[in-house]
Amino acid sequence: DLGPRMVKNALFTYVRPEITHSPELLAVSPRALQDLGLKPEEAETEEFRQVFAGNKILTWDAEKKEGIYPWAQCYGGYQFGQWAGQLGDGRAISLFEATNPDTGVRYEVQLKGAGRTPYSRFADGKAVLRSSIREFVVSEYLNAIRIPTTRALALILAPRSKVMRERLEPGAIVTRFAQSWVRLGTFDLPKARGDRKTLRKLADYTAEHIYGGWEQLPSKLKPGEPKDTWHDIKYDIAKDMVEGPAGEEENRYARLYRAIIRANARTVAHWQAYGFMNGVLNTDNTSILGLSMDYGPFAFLDQFDPMYTPNHDDYMGRYSYRNQPTIVWWNLVRLGEALGELIGQGPDVDDPTFVEKGVTEDGAQVLIKRAEGIIERAGEEYKAVFLATYKELMTARLGLKTFKESDFQDLFSELLDFLEKYELDFHHAFRRLGHVNLEQLASEQGRKDIAGWFFKSDAAPRQEDESRERIAQWLEKWAARVKEDWGEGKDEERQAAMARVNPKFVPRSWILDELINRVEKQGEREILQHIMKMTLNPFEEHWGWNEKEEERFCGDVPKFKGMMQCSCSS
Ligand code: AMP
Ligand code: MG
Ligand code: MG
Repeated sequence: DLGPRMVKNALFTYVRPEITHSPELLAVSPRALQDLGLKPEEAETEEFRQVFAGNKILTWDAEKKEGIYPWAQCYGGYQFGQWAGQLGDGRAISLFEATNPDTGVRYEVQLKGAGRTPYSRFADGKAVLRSSIREFVVSEYLNAIRIPTTRALALILAPRSKVMRERLEPGAIVTRFAQSWVRLGTFDLPKARGDRKTLRKLADYTAEHIYGGWEQLPSKLKPGEPKDTWHDIKYDIAKDMVEGPAGEEENRYARLYRAIIRANARTVAHWQAYGFMNGVLNTDNTSILGLSMDYGPFAFLDQFDPMYTPNHDDYMGRYSYRNQPTIVWWNLVRLGEALGELIGQGPDVDDPTFVEKGVTEDGAQVLIKRAEGIIERAGEEYKAVFLATYKELMTARLGLKTFKESDFQDLFSELLDFLEKYELDFHHAFRRLGHVNLEQLASEQGRKDIAGWFFKSDAAPRQEDESRERIAQWLEKWAARVKEDWGEGKDEERQAAMARVNPKFVPRSWILDELINRVEKQGEREILQHIMKMTLNPFEEHWGWNEKEEERFCGDVPKFKGMMQCSCSS
């Protein structure tokens, strides 16, 4: 019986995907193939298409009844600040785990939109093409700009599946993968049910199998190399978690909690530095590994507007750009509460022979009280890691080698203030700055000319505007800092460094809308390949398919297509 149901004392249910008739493989991410340890030819086989359409279960032998059977995860969540009860994978079904033999990294591979599960409640278990294209592109894009994220391998059109949303729409399936799909909401559910046994098992599993083991993988970094792959960041976090600081009162659950906090703080800092918004930061959409995940009404900023929320139904701006760091912390406090009784135990809980004493209500209160102090200190750590990461990213984006305390006000804040005030494009500002020669900023006139680069190409070229003067003044300060860090004659080197951290291509809402329209309504296919090429190589200057089109996608946001909002129906 696949009807909706409450699943207790367990965190998943075995369930198989529905059969998809005549699936069409629309796109595959070559980067994803590589990261999973697959060869490009393998994506061209009939088996690949059938497996990722949910028609063939690779790991299950139906005759012998052995192997790995697909499953859906059980979790709960706080949605818009309210406890929502059991949610679970209502339209995601995990197929298997796979370890890349070259890197040792293990992934859980799943299908989204492959049919109903016991967690579908009263929905259909399907995903529409529109939202599947969005998820496919943004997963691979965030990874390409080095933001921790769940990934996407394949996009399949289910031509005979018509899905009812605001209208009848074509259905699709995205193959996604991640080192883990466990979310904060996975902890919320046993907590809400008072199921201490499951909660502890889940915490042990997370510590040992999700975070643990990383410290044993070889770091791919050579000494002195900057940490810029997620692999190496996670390596650090895991190592720190397992070895832990010398603190006496910290047991393994406190260390796990802090590891989860650091991972999330890092990711949110990346979102802020790159102008990305998730749009629905409920606890069921916040990853235990700090991966960006669950792509619904997400967006990138166009102009810099901190109050902007991409979610059409988010009247209060709860999930606006500027609220993201606070909201993720709010979610992490819910996790702290779920883990409270475990965090509050003494270090003897680390001993494998430790036997949990029956926790009385009074006993639990003592443990929770102790945990509160640890959670509060973890809050300080969250802020510190967030700020350190944010500063590091902004420093690099501005082409500086070092961070000075005064940069925060003089360069970061002042830049964001004028971008906001004059409604200027957030991404163009960084990329275009990366083309400036210091020589061009040597004179007042030069600075005013360059200030013009921050505006749309059809903006009036008025030199005496207050806006131009303010930007010119900022450019003067910026140039001085660049000189201080690089010395003279280093334009080319600095420009190359800036181009490596400031993407030229950003999959903004208007671009995804055009892509969806062309694939769904015009039946185009090639355009997906072109956009994927830009998505996977966003720091390039040219992509070699059509210069005019490339420039259009990287240029001004067309009139009335900026800062769009998206509804949750997907
Ligand atoms: P989200 O807003 O994407 O975080 O989804 C919240 C919950 O609704 C999750 O448990 C999803 O699995 C579930 N859900 C969303 N859309 C569907 C659907 N079409 N069919 C079944 N479950 C769904
Ligand atoms: Mg969700
Ligand atoms: Mg979703």
